[in-house]
Order: sequence, then C-alpha cells, then structure tokens
Amino acid sequence: MEKKQFQAESKRLLEMMVNSIYSQKEIFLRELISNASDAIDKMYYRSLTDDSLEFEQEKYAVFIEANKDARTLTLKDTGIGMTKAELEANLGTIAKSGSLAFKKENEIKDGHDIIGQFGVGFYAAFMVADKVSVLSRSVDSEEAFRWESDGTDGYTIEPAEKNEVGTEITLHLKENGDEESFDDYLEEYRLKQIIKKYSDFIRYPIKMNVTVSKPNEENEDEYTEFQEEQTINSMVPIWRKNKSELTDDDYEQFYQDKRYGFDKPLEHIHVAVDGAVRYNAILFIPESTPFDYYSKEFEKGLELYANGVLIMEKSAELVPDYFSFVKGMVDSEDLSLNISREMLQHDRQLQLIAKNIKSKIKSQLKTMMKKEPEKYETFYKAFGRQLKFGVYNDFGANKDDLQDLLMFYSSTEKKLVSLTDYVSRMKEDQTQIYYATGESIDRIAKLPQTEMVAEQGYEILYFTEDVDEFAIKMLRSYSEKEFTSVSSSDLKLNDENKEEEETQPEHTEMFTKMKEILSGKVKDVRASKRLKTHPVFLAADGEITLEMEKVLQAMPD
Ligand code: ADP
Ligand code: MG
Repeated sequence: MEKKQFQAESKRLLEMMVNSIYSQKEIFLRELISNASDAIDKMYYRSLTDDSLEFEQEKYAVFIEANKDARTLTLKDTGIGMTKAELEANLGTIAKSGSLAFKKENEIKDGHDIIGQFGVGFYAAFMVADKVSVLSRSVDSEEAFRWESDGTDGYTIEPAEKNEVGTEITLHLKENGDEESFDDYLEEYRLKQIIKKYSDFIRYPIKMNVTVSKPNEENEDEYTEFQEEQTINSMVPIWRKNKSELTDDDYEQFYQDKRYGFDKPLEHIHVAVDGAVRYNAILFIPESTPFDYYSKEFEKGLELYANGVLIMEKSAELVPDYFSFVKGMVDSEDLSLNISREMLQHDRQLQLIAKNIKSKIKSQLKTMMKKEPEKYETFYKAFGRQLKFGVYNDFGANKDDLQDLLMFYSSTEKKLVSLTDYVSRMKEDQTQIYYATGESIDRIAKLPQTEMVAEQGYEILYFTEDVDEFAIKMLRSYSEKEFTSVSSSDLKLNDENKEEEETQPEHTEMFTKMKEILSGKVKDVRASKRLKTHPVFLAADGEITLEMEKVLQAMPD
C-alpha cells in the first residue's frame, strides 16, 4: 500500500484563510505586534538560562514606522529573531507555530505571556499588503536573512545585512481598491487607534514617531511641529496591578479612557480570581442610566481579553440581562480561542467566569445597600427597573438572586425600603406584605383602598411602575409572607379586623339596583368596613388586579 500526503493548493488556501477567518482587516497589526512581543518574551526566557545574555528591559521594544511615499508600514522588534531554517519553518508553513513549540520545549509554566499558538496570525498581513518582506537575525546566528513573499507564489529567502538581533517586517500596502483605502494604515491617528484598541496591554513598549506641535518660546501664538518618539501603549494593565496601589481616581480614569460611559462610575469591582478558572476583571456600575438603556439599541457586554490582547469588544455572555448595566472588562489566560481569536472554542470557561462575575456583582450590590444606602438609592433609581424586569423575566428563574436587591416606597418610612426591612417591621398579627398600585406616590396615598390598611397601622409598599406588580406576582412571597394588594377582596386581616360586613336588609334593594345598572361592569356590590372617608371603592377578585389589567390592555397584541 502506498501512503500519500495530501496535496494542497497553498496559494488558494492562504487566500481563503486570510480572507475568511478575520472579520476586520485592522487586526493584522494586532497579530504582528503579538508576534513581536512573543519574540521579546523568548529573549527574556532565554536570558534566564543563558548567562551570556542579559535582559536589559530598556533595550526591548516594538517600533512602528509608516512611509507614505513608499506606502510601506514597518514593524521592528528587538526580539529573538529567526534563523534561515526558522524563517522557512515558521513563515513558510501555514499553521506552524514556532511559539507553541517554544512553550512546549521550555515547559514554561508561567508561559502565559507567549501569545502565539496557531501559526496563522502572520499571514493576516496579506489582507492589507501585496508584498511582505521579513528581515531577521537570530540570537543564535551572525548572519541575517530576508524572507519575501507576495502571498501568492511562494516565497524567497536570501542572505541580508542586519546589525542587531531581531526582526523587521515591511508591508507594502495594497493599492486602494474601490471598496477600501489601505492608505489609512499609514496615518498616525489610525495606527495609534488600532494599537490602543487591541494591544494597549502588551508588556513591551510599542513606539512610534508622532508629530507634536509646541508653542514657540518667543511667540506663544506660533507653533513648531516636530517628530517625537512616543510609546503608544499603556503596557501594564490596571487589572494586573494590586488593588492597594490603586485609587478611586485610577479606576475613574480607566472608565473614561475606555469610554465605558459619559458619566462617572458609581462603583467599581476589581476581581482577581485564581481558582478553577483564572481571570481578572474590572467592573463598573455607572452613575446614571445611558440614554438608550431601556431601548432595543442598547447592547450589553463586557470587553474580553485573552492575556491582555483584546478578543471581543462586547461579550454578551459575561453578564446576565438583569445586570446589563455593568460595564468593564475581563482578562483570562484560560480561554481556548479559536483560530481567528475572535471567538472561543468552548464556552465552558466563559460560563464559569460569567457565573462568578454574577455573584460578585450581586454581593457588591448587597453590601452597598447595607453600608451605603444613599449610594444604593442612586443606583436603584438608575437601574432598579432592570432588576424588577429580571425578577419577572424567564419565568422568575432569577428571582432568588434578585429579591434581596429590590426596593419600594414605603407608606410609613416615606422612602425606598427593602423587603427585608419591611418584613422586619411587620406587626405581630400581620401575615401579608401589603402593597398599593397607582401612578404616583401622592395618588396612591389618596386611594380609598389604602386608607383602612394604613389606619390599622400596617406599612404599605407603593408601586408606581408598571413592572412592579408583575415582578411581585412572580415572587408571590418574600420570607414566606405573601404579597397582597390593598385592592384585593380578601386582605387576610385577622378576625377582629375582618373587613366584610354583613349586608344589612335595608341595603339589599339598593345593592341589587346598583348591580343592575352596573351590569357587565362589576361582579358584585358589597358593604365594606374598609372605607373611612370615601363612599365607595373598587376591589378585585383573583390574581389580576385592576392596575395589571390596565397595563395588559395597553400592551400591543
Ligand atoms: P503564532 O504566533 O500563532 O505562532 P504566526 O503565524 O503569527 O503564528 O507566527 C508563526 C511563527 O513565526 C511564530 O510562532 C514565530 O515562531 C515566528 N515569528 C513570527 N513573527 C516573529 C517575530 N517578529 N520574531 C520572531 N519570530 C517570529
Ligand atoms: Mg502570532
């Protein structure tokens, strides 16, 4: 039997791959920067075992240079470089990752700094360039080589001159097509923007010459422009720093830099988890409701980073709908990425993280409610409605998570109170949690139904939002006390206060007449002890109260 290797039309394969795995062309820069960072990391690891090498931090950086006349973009690194054989193996074989091999050979336990693993990122350069030239000199070689390819007809390798160890990659940008302009990638602002977006937390400086203008010394109105080398990335991610080193201002600055909102954060949660799944996160609860929050346009989600490299701008899976107001980011070393680094292979890790994050947010809110009630009220005014929707949605699946976070206006306290507080104040003979529904606090207070219950000294929760009563119906009870509307026909008061009165014989005729006139509108007309200053009120039998009926009727079919 003869065994044969698969043949591949590599030219076609490369084309297909490059153009189909990435949804955005701009990520070519992320991939090349990640490779440069890996190359520097390898130098670092090498220096740990090789005494002849000294790792001087300041020597290591990535330099990016655009040349508009030549339409080239060059990335230079002072990393480990590649020998001729490595150039062939790593850049000449699709899906061969020298970095993955390095991680395996060196048994790097904390090797999470090395990003490469799939052996395809480099080819992303061909999305924007029609010729790529790689000049490299390995730390193990006195000679340098130039690898060159147009991405279609294979590649060439020839000896070249390079004084320093490292790699220099030059992209000859494609001609502008009808649909897109590649010129953008030569613009300072655009390069900065892409670096900040994806590679802000690469641990080595990413440097670029930028144009700065300064006022002249003699004449403040005149400016001189000059070029200055600047480091574009922030390097150390704030979430890897120790909480004790950070101030509220640092978090606020981060919130603003990341444009999570136009407001200030009301609260931040800094999480570092080193358990079944390892991750760092910085979460924010905004101070005010985003203008589109309660609309279809609003998109929830957290930024997702793998090893400090941005993978997804809005990972919706990380936060439940009822906490959709939470902003921030998650960084994990344990995500198994798919080849484009835009999606995950398995979402098990993500689910674990999401679950963990959910409980962190919950407990932070609970603590705030207890220790900083005023702050909690600000939060609740902005996002309380979302919590109530959360209780109601998914058939109440999340009610246990949320019931302790709810607050309603109280007739006796004249402010928002939690259900725990209400229950703790209940009278000895009280079996129900009473509530009343209406358009506003003032109007509810004036309802005849409210009067008697209030007069007997019971605290009443006022529901002013449509969702309130629906949420409460989903809860049914809190701390084994049932919710009962003051408009319900049975208030479940104790015998002494039993509200129904026997209809007196002299009333029978009048009540029958009333029922006749109101036929089809009311089920029954009865006498009641509940009324104090009002002559009459409407009561509802059964589950659906009058207020709910109004909401249901107003809903589109
Ligand atoms: P990956 O980074 O996933 O391994 P790439 O296609 O991005 O895949 O790169 C392929 C390989 O080429 C890398 O694993 C590395 O061995 C080598 N390489 C790429 N860029 C550089 C560089 N700037 N310096 C040294 N080696 C590099
Ligand atoms: Mg790579």
